[in-house]
Amino acid sequence: NELPADTNETNEVRQVSNAVFSFVNPTTPSNPKLIHASEEVAKLVGIAKEEITSDSFLNVFSGKEVLPHTRPYAMCYAGHQFGNWAGQLGDGRAINLTEVEHDDAFFTLQLKGAGKTPYSRTADGLAVLRSSVREYLCAEAMHYLGVPTTRSLSLMLSGDQVLRDILYNGNPAYEKGAIVCRVAPSFIRFGSFEMLTARNELKNLQQFVEYNIKYYFPEIKGEPKEQYLQFFQKIADTTREMILHWQRVGFVHGVMNTDNMSIHGLTIDYGPYGWLENYDPNWTPNTTDSQNRRYRFGNQPQIAQWNLYQLANAIYPLINEAEPLEKILASFITDYDSGYKNMFLSKLGIFTSTESDSKLIADLEATLQLSETDMTLFFRNLSKVKKEDSADKALEIIQDAFYLPEEITGEILVSWTKWFTIYIERLNTENLSDESRSQEMNLVNPKYVLRNYMSQLAIDAADQGDYSLIKELYSLLQKPYDEQPEFEKWFAKRPDWARSKVGCSM
Ligand code: AMP
Ligand code: MG
Ligand code: MG
Repeated sequence: NELPADTNETNEVRQVSNAVFSFVNPTTPSNPKLIHASEEVAKLVGIAKEEITSDSFLNVFSGKEVLPHTRPYAMCYAGHQFGNWAGQLGDGRAINLTEVEHDDAFFTLQLKGAGKTPYSRTADGLAVLRSSVREYLCAEAMHYLGVPTTRSLSLMLSGDQVLRDILYNGNPAYEKGAIVCRVAPSFIRFGSFEMLTARNELKNLQQFVEYNIKYYFPEIKGEPKEQYLQFFQKIADTTREMILHWQRVGFVHGVMNTDNMSIHGLTIDYGPYGWLENYDPNWTPNTTDSQNRRYRFGNQPQIAQWNLYQLANAIYPLINEAEPLEKILASFITDYDSGYKNMFLSKLGIFTSTESDSKLIADLEATLQLSETDMTLFFRNLSKVKKEDSADKALEIIQDAFYLPEEITGEILVSWTKWFTIYIERLNTENLSDESRSQEMNLVNPKYVLRNYMSQLAIDAADQGDYSLIKELYSLLQKPYDEQPEFEKWFAKRPDWARSKVGCSM
């Protein structure tokens, strides 16, 4: 390996200076069982379909057996958590098994929940079935939605019990332990660079940045400083694209700390994430953030920029010039704003852009919030509105999206009628036929997303040993833009019982 390694080769919890990673051994699970695996991801990394059911797949991706000629490792990184410097964090419950090159692409295979590492701090290094099902399914759902993300290869039970809660009577509440194998080019985060700079390990910082460019951004050429700037520009660009996709599908990450920001612009670390149901830019699924709402839906672009500032500060010592970094950071928001307008217009089925379209968008965003309106249902059904329809007819077409239809009277009704009148007028200035527009809209407005209550049902069944719902949702979410009549029941508003359910983080 070309990178500085920790010389203390144990899993013992500690501060690790002068290294970007530590060699570790996964904890042996007592009775691993495969719950689900992705044939597509297996193929991506060079594993044949037939191998998925083998003992060796079970043993390797549960952490029971280390592949010959490989040395698992955990990475050292730091981060800003909820805006505050948190010092060394690192892979506390993630272990990189190995890196593979397949069909000219690099992949890192990483277990989550395979035991303590030097970075586990006060925690156990384990993951429970609940959070593992959520991560496993959501990463794949995001991929099929066209959102850049880490992928999921496998979901296993470890056979061990994990303590996550103490009940009100003082008794421990155990949950089933699980292990997910996730896949990405790398799991390097903004915080990986922040750690080196905070420790003033500038030689390591330079070596690490150059390593990243060499393997993950080989197209970058030129003088060293020029390369570092291009490196930062690429990360800003892919991060912006990722956030645009999040806003398009209504995904809220929930913990956009700098240690959860991938240098590849991939959605990473699925914890208390959630999907907007009623359209509300102030919503966050993270209960620990319910006061400040730092990571609310509408704040994700600003937070991405804030996180990029931290990355800029981290690589600044290699560049020693603030201006070019500031320029990239400033254009992040202006480029985001124009990207957002185009993205939103595509959701509306408008494929030319005029000045007044910004107002059309802003008015819709405001109107959607007057009474709880389901984002996914609204946009999906909007594609059925025709150029010749009246505003009343359009309102009827999207009415399933209203959680409280009885509220759509008086001023709220007036607002909707106004908006649809202008929208339909606008559609009539476009050349696209109703049919083509509807087809185009259905490619950007998903019919199915992984609503929280859906994961919850799959988790509850899985906890009883029934994995059929995991399979069903996996299959459903592979084609989120397609009509799937056999799955029509999942094209529905959140049921009442799931109203105040939030995500979970552990
Ligand atoms: P997160 O908020 O999930 O991104 O985690 C923040 C930090 O806590 C990372 O360094 C994680 O590796 C670590 N961490 C989270 N859960 C555990 C756990 N169960 N055991 C050890 N470390 C953990
Ligand atoms: Mg994390
Ligand atoms: Mg996490």
